[in-house]
Amino acid sequence: MKQYKPNKVYVSSEIIKKLKWVDDEIETLKKEHRFIVPRILNSAQKPISIIDGKKVVNLTSNNYLAMTDEEEVKKAAIDAIKKYGVGTAAVRTIIGTMDIHRELEIKFAKFKNTEDSILFQSGFTSNVAVCQTLMNSEDYLLISDELNHASIIDGARLAKAPRKIYRHKDMNHLKEILESEESRKAKRKLIVTDGVFSMDGDIAPLDQIVELANKYDAMVMVDDAHASGVIGDNGRGTVNYFKLDGKVEIQIGTLSKAFAAVGGYAATTKKLRDYLGSVARPFLFSSSQPPSVAATCIKILELLMKKPEYLKKLWENTKFFKEELKKYGFDTGESVTPITPIMIGDSEKAIKFSNMLFQEGVFALSIVYPTVPKGKERIRTIVTRGHTIKDLEFAISKFVKVGRKLGIIN
Ligand code: PMP
Repeated sequence: MKQYKPNKVYVSSEIIKKLKWVDDEIETLKKEHRFIVPRILNSAQKPISIIDGKKVVNLTSNNYLAMTDEEEVKKAAIDAIKKYGVGTAAVRTIIGTMDIHRELEIKFAKFKNTEDSILFQSGFTSNVAVCQTLMNSEDYLLISDELNHASIIDGARLAKAPRKIYRHKDMNHLKEILESEESRKAKRKLIVTDGVFSMDGDIAPLDQIVELANKYDAMVMVDDAHASGVIGDNGRGTVNYFKLDGKVEIQIGTLSKAFAAVGGYAATTKKLRDYLGSVARPFLFSSSQPPSVAATCIKILELLMKKPEYLKKLWENTKFFKEELKKYGFDTGESVTPITPIMIGDSEKAIKFSNMLFQEGVFALSIVYPTVPKGKERIRTIVTRGHTIKDLEFAISKFVKVGRKLGIIN
């Protein structure tokens, strides 16, 4: 396995002196188990991957539909490169809009049962763009679930509107906020929630959120990063899962998980789409995705319609894996989706668990404080449609072996 080491180059004594503070910061991060040295993938992202030179069952990627290495999908991307080249070298509003971008926007909107959609460079950027744009006045109010993704938090920080955070999925708390003086005075309100929460794999009560939103005249934005291609008919996401098609203002998501490429979208009305396309800063000031990305996603949309067995397999694997873990006494939290946490409750133990699993041939990452609260440290797993039952049985046997060694189960 080839190792890439930092370059040995001249660095001035002034720079060394001025950047001394970085040593201190890194020291602190190391003490708090927050210094990150990621493992490296030496193969395609697959159910069985080569990671740090070792063949392992990969339970860590968001490759829900196992599309990253699918022949038909790779062919579509290669064909697009042949036709359009590798990149656009422009932002969308200058000359970075290719017909294939519009094709994906319209096809994605159809998938989401919305009039139109707009592409962004990532899911992160989509959340930032929409929160910042829609909440661009101090007279508005942004209301957010406490466990929403970091990109929603950052989008809210860039917005001028004040924000209120409600306790995770607590509808009484949301109602309290909507009835508050601040909310009554706000000229525009936006409730933002993840559809499927990324660390716990639970689903937002979107039906109740929409009911409250209608009662108190608030818009709703749902981040379907972990729901698109996963829940709802043909993987249409949380809105469809709750039969709320046509009743939610904005559906956000990523093209980097079930859709295997990179990018994000906001599926919404034609007018709101056009408005975002005229003022959302990441859309105006950052270049568009390579055409191969659009082709990848168009092909995956087609496969989701043509091959319902893919989604069925993802859910069969999910059910099997969760039931087996529970059978052996693991605490898998609140999850009802392919994201399954295995609760450990201690940073050091969680890290050790993950490292021991890796030695046994299973890659499942530890998630520790401050990504999750103290006491909620865990191993986070995601099964994909590409895993075989044999892969999962192998993984379970290793979870049991390590879990017993570390006293997590009996
Ligand atoms: N929202 C949620 C809930 C996510 O989990 C992620 C990905 N970590 C994002 C947004 C950001 O998506 P992307 O990786 O496409 O920027």
